[in-house]
Amino acid sequence: MPAVVKEKGDSDSSSEDEKEDHQCISWSGLSKTIPVLLFLPEAAVSKDRNICSIGERYNMAFKIVRTESRLVRGILTNHGFHEVHPNSNDFNLMWTGSHLKPYVLRSLQDFQKVNHFPRSYELTRKDRLYKNIQRMQQTHGFKHFHIIPQTFVLPSEYQEFRNCFAKDKGPWIIKPVASSRGRGIYLVSNPNQISMDDNILVSRYINNPLLIDDFKFDMRLYVLVTSYDPLLIYVYEEGLARFATVKYDQTSTNIKNTFMHLTNYSLNKKSSDYVSCDDPEVEDYGNKWSMSAVLRYLKQEGKDTTLLMSQIEDLIIKAVLSAEQQISTACKTFVPHKTNCFELYGFDVLIDSNLKPWLLEVNLSPSLSCDAPLDLKIKASMIADMFSLVGFVCQDPLPKQARSDRVVSEKHPAAQRAQRQKQTSTTNPETDAQGLKHSRGDSTLSLTSEEIKVLRRIKEEYERRGGFIRIFPTVETWELYSVYLESKPSMNFMLANRLFHGRNVNENVQLQYERKLLSLEARKRRQRHLTYGSAGRKKTWGGKKSKASLTESSSPGVEECAPQQREEVKELFEPISHKQRKQVASPLEPCHSIPLSSSGAAIHNTRPKINLLNILEQNWDLSKVQARIAFSAYLQRVQQRLLAESRASSIPAWPDRDNDQMELVIRFLKRAARNLQQDIKVVSPDPHLPLQDCKRLLSQQLGEFILCYNKETEHMVRKLGNSEEKGCVNYSIFEEYITTASESSLEEVLTFYTQKNKSASVFLGTKDKSVKKDTLGINFPGDSSNSLPPAKEDSSTSESLLTTGKLNCDPNIKASSSALSSTATASSASILHAEFGKIPALSVRRVFRASGIPLHNRDATATKTGVDLHIQRLYCGEGSNPSTPKDTFVYHVRISLRSSLLSPKCHTHLQPEAFQTHICWPR
Ligand code: ADP
Repeated sequence: MPAVVKEKGDSDSSSEDEKEDHQCISWSGLSKTIPVLLFLPEAAVSKDRNICSIGERYNMAFKIVRTESRLVRGILTNHGFHEVHPNSNDFNLMWTGSHLKPYVLRSLQDFQKVNHFPRSYELTRKDRLYKNIQRMQQTHGFKHFHIIPQTFVLPSEYQEFRNCFAKDKGPWIIKPVASSRGRGIYLVSNPNQISMDDNILVSRYINNPLLIDDFKFDMRLYVLVTSYDPLLIYVYEEGLARFATVKYDQTSTNIKNTFMHLTNYSLNKKSSDYVSCDDPEVEDYGNKWSMSAVLRYLKQEGKDTTLLMSQIEDLIIKAVLSAEQQISTACKTFVPHKTNCFELYGFDVLIDSNLKPWLLEVNLSPSLSCDAPLDLKIKASMIADMFSLVGFVCQDPLPKQARSDRVVSEKHPAAQRAQRQKQTSTTNPETDAQGLKHSRGDSTLSLTSEEIKVLRRIKEEYERRGGFIRIFPTVETWELYSVYLESKPSMNFMLANRLFHGRNVNENVQLQYERKLLSLEARKRRQRHLTYGSAGRKKTWGGKKSKASLTESSSPGVEECAPQQREEVKELFEPISHKQRKQVASPLEPCHSIPLSSSGAAIHNTRPKINLLNILEQNWDLSKVQARIAFSAYLQRVQQRLLAESRASSIPAWPDRDNDQMELVIRFLKRAARNLQQDIKVVSPDPHLPLQDCKRLLSQQLGEFILCYNKETEHMVRKLGNSEEKGCVNYSIFEEYITTASESSLEEVLTFYTQKNKSASVFLGTKDKSVKKDTLGINFPGDSSNSLPPAKEDSSTSESLLTTGKLNCDPNIKASSSALSSTATASSASILHAEFGKIPALSVRRVFRASGIPLHNRDATATKTGVDLHIQRLYCGEGSNPSTPKDTFVYHVRISLRSSLLSPKCHTHLQPEAFQTHICWPR
């Protein structure tokens, strides 16, 4: 176990070479002698002796009061903290779900921290937030603070609301003043619909939200404030986007549908349409995406995401500024030490169709629950980074007397040494700064000890910032927002004068919000990789590293500071992009984002001559078609292996592992089949069947899936063309690779590709995008959310890479696949496309989905959501005509649309009348 402080005689000095490196220690203070704990997100889920050794050694403690957070508890415990009773005062951190009483704050010692500032409700209560912003609008001009929808607090402002309503009929959204998770929220189009039981807010409803695949979403950003005087604001570079579960429709007929208008996870998870994603590497699937996945999506759509994020930063800074004076004053009154409080706020932001972000609310204790792997990935990293940034000094919270009562021999010698060291120096960066001042004298520095403390603190926080981006102050934001600071006197101006004077705003580099976080699993693998790879090498942490980085740049704004301080200050304002960000995924560390294991006997177990992974690591990319071809090839290898195993006569050595693997294949098939345009039924093999039979059945189903999947890729090839894309791997090299690649090699390549793109949608397809792009939209029974691509009737004329001799299926599989012949489906799709291409795709799909009509069983009529559908079976196809292939039934389909469905925006050319056609479907 590495020691924090090296034993070296009895000397009390603490020169750098006495300190031993430890991944959980950062050295702070003037002479870098004060250990501050660094947190690792992977500890959220598992205990590692090395990681928890430091916290244990210092007997560090936390208490959790009036809240429940498994994540916080897990991270702290696995960093060696122990939990004390909520009444105990011997803690390093108090994590609470509510505001703090003044007497609790007043009793805090310098090393203790609490996760709220006093009077934070000025931001986190909806009515207070609005009032504060309204005040700023009045003082500084409405347009500068037009960041929140117009709001009235009822009943006191009822008359003003009625006057406003006379001009703007809404809809309006009603919210209880101090509630959360969508509770008690509803929309009204008339003041008489408002129930006046409690204090409520009436806000103008943003009825033109930006949609993704027709769904409304909002963004959750994590904002960390570590001080209100001076004001220090950070935003975490990753956040979450939460999607509604019902497609958005602007017509007022649906205002009661909360699944359409509210995006709260706690509400939408109750919907049967809620889709969760169980793969932490896939960030753009289902009803919860990562913020960076949304930004990547929007960027692809041609939206200016840099502008969007700068506007979001703008509203965050302005919102915090609106409460700065009240909170700062409360801190001065109640909080004994400047480093006692920090706060993580959850900012909810809605983006409208003009790409303007609106602040909806600021959450006091943003949810840290981790229902999906993506939650854990983001929140564990964020909490670990936050704890590192706020900086827990390694100090035993027990009073000295109680400590000395403990059996001394139990203590690690290093801890005893640290104890001695503490007596000679001090564990607190604040008092350490005093030492700095006295050692150098006022005149040389022209800085007060308070300024020195704050400067050092800002610098050290910045070094430990992890994924947090400081948005205030920076050279640029100081210039823009300092005029709105209300609290005077404060440290802000004095510091800015020291720090920014003479700095050029343009030096600031664009902030990046598109960092790709590693999942905890990938982090662990990477950690192992680094550990093995760097065996014998020693990493440097703390003092040495800081020293080296201190000499990086110069700043004209700090001429008056002493040399060391000048360097510290320089580093503070380094453009963020110059600093080391956390490492991105190691491409050599496959992360099993595709839920198929390659363990077991691989048929293609020779390494291909071409190392595609290497090529991709050189920054070459796969085109969408190539990615799908690689995926299909991978599935074929799995399928063939399963088939081979089903035929093998030997008894499996690891039946449990085989079962797990088949379970994975079934889960994968069920999930992926939902995204196929054509409906294929995935059935779990009867568990009583012999293993061999189960494998054969699965292999068959996988074969069916591959056939359908390949058809869709063919369609894509026809649509996009097969020409080589810029930056993509050369086609002949790619083909050569595909022909020879083993299952595990393909898995590595696909894993790398998925990690790089943070999305499996290329492989699995996103139906709704095709709806938008193809304006086509009939699904077949069981197809829950998608439209069909206009597949070609005669697939033989467009043989793709996929089907030219590379699909080496079992004859059984071919036979069973033909039951779902894509020719029949393609014909149907083409006819429907031709006839109904202009019908609102969504509506027609809804009818099919909602009606649940088994097309091949009976004639039926359904009336749902404004569409009448009548289906009548006519005759059986003879195969003489390509559009009525053999073994298919031909149906007459009549669809009548009601006028309410014909949205004037999209379908002005349509009349509310019936459409009809014939489609065919396999018998
Ligand atoms: P809560 O604290 O209960 O979650 P919010 O203010 O965040 O309350 O509102 C809940 C949801 O309602 C938001 O996530 C958003 O989808 C929707 N919403 C709230 N206010 C508006 C608004 N003014 N315009 C459009 N949608 C809104």
